[in-house]
Amino acid sequence: MLDRLQAQAPDALLALIKMHAQDPREDKIDLGVGVYRTNEGATPVFRAIKKAEQKLVDEQDSKSYLGPEGDTGFVDALKPYVFGKDATMGGRIEGMQTPGGTGAVRLAVALAKAAGVTRVHMGTPSWPNHAQILADVGVEFVSFTHAKPDGSADLDAVLGAICGAGPTDAVLLHGCCHNPTGVDYTADQWAAIAEAFAETGVLPLLDVAYHGLGHGLEEDIAGVRQVLAKVPEALIAYSCDKNFGLYRDRVGAFYMLAKEPGQLPAITSNANALARANWSMPPDHGGAAVRYVLRDPSLTREWLEELDDMRARMRRVRARLAAADNEAPGLNLAALGEQNGLFATLPLDKNQIVKLREDHGIYMAGSGRINVAGLHAGNTDKFIAALADVTRG
Ligand code: PMP
Repeated sequence: MLDRLQAQAPDALLALIKMHAQDPREDKIDLGVGVYRTNEGATPVFRAIKKAEQKLVDEQDSKSYLGPEGDTGFVDALKPYVFGKDATMGGRIEGMQTPGGTGAVRLAVALAKAAGVTRVHMGTPSWPNHAQILADVGVEFVSFTHAKPDGSADLDAVLGAICGAGPTDAVLLHGCCHNPTGVDYTADQWAAIAEAFAETGVLPLLDVAYHGLGHGLEEDIAGVRQVLAKVPEALIAYSCDKNFGLYRDRVGAFYMLAKEPGQLPAITSNANALARANWSMPPDHGGAAVRYVLRDPSLTREWLEELDDMRARMRRVRARLAAADNEAPGLNLAALGEQNGLFATLPLDKNQIVKLREDHGIYMAGSGRINVAGLHAGNTDKFIAALADVTRG
C-alpha cells in the first residue's frame, strides 16, 4: 500500500537552510528562513516569555487534559488586542486556542467548508501553506493579484474577487505584514474592502500572523477591525508565534464572529468537533505562557517593549534599503520603506538569485522573497552592493 506514495517535492526553504549551513564564507547572509532576527542574527526567547514560563513551571499544578478549545484564559486575554479594548461586538465573538496560526487557518477553512463554502479567493503570491491547506481541506482555490508592480496593493483585484464571488465563496486576506510581499492595504483600501464585504455578504477569512511587526499593535489590526465592524460574520486566524517569538511552541487562536450571539454555540460546537478530529486539543505550554504575559501588567509592558524594538529594527533596515533605491535600479527598493513586516519580494530573476548565492553568499527564496530581519547594520551595505552587482547591465 505505502509503496503507492509518490515522493513529494522537498521543501525549498529547508534545502536553502542546508546550503547556507554548508557555505564556509563568514560574511554569508541568510534571508531565507521566516523568523525574526536581532542585530546579532539571533532569534532569542522573549524576556517576558522566559519570566512567564518560569512562573508557569512554579505554579502549574496539573497537566491534565483541557479540551479542544484549549486555554480559554489565553484566548480571552488576547481578545482586546484583536478586537479592541471595548469591542465586545455585541457578544458575537467566540474563540479557541489552536496549534499555531497554521491550525487556526486550517480550522477557518474547514469550518467554512462545513458551513457550505466551496471556493476560496486569495491574493497571490501568498504563504505557500495557504494553497496547501485549501487543497487538503478540499475547497477550490481561486487566485487574484495581490500586489501591483509598483509595490502597492492591487485594490481593484481584491474588490473584483469580493464583488464577483458566488454564494458559496469566501475570500482569504492577510491582516497585516503580508507574506511574502510585505504589501498591505492602506486604511482607505481596507475601508473599500470592508464596504465590499458588507454589501455582498461574502465571508471574510482573515489571517493575522504578524500582528505588531508592521507599525504597531493598534495600527496593524486597524484594517481587520474595519472589516469586522461592517460584516455580519467573519473567521479570524491569529498567530502568536512571531509577535511572542514562540514559533516551535505553536501558539495560535481562532475567533468566530457570528451574526447573532445565539448562533455561537452551534458554530463553536462545529469548530470544536473539527479541532477534536484534527489535533484533539492544542499544545498548552506556549498559550499558557502568553496568558501569563497578558495578565501581568509588568510582563505585558516588557513584551510590548521587546515587540517595539523588533519593529523599530525592521523599520530601520527597510529605511536603509529604501534609501538605496538608486543603487539597484529596477528593484524598486524605495517601496520597501512603505511595506511592512518580516518579508519583501524583490523582482529578481532566477539567474540573479543564483548569482547572489554563488558570488555573494546571499541566500533567499527562489521567489525573490527576503526576510528583512536577516539584515542588520553589519551586512546591509554588503547586500545592497550585491544587489547593485547582479542588477548591473
Ligand atoms: N499565516 C501566514 C501568512 C504565515 O506566514 C504563517 C507562518 N509563516 C502562518 C499563518 C502560520 O503561523 P504559525 O507558525 O503560527 O503556524
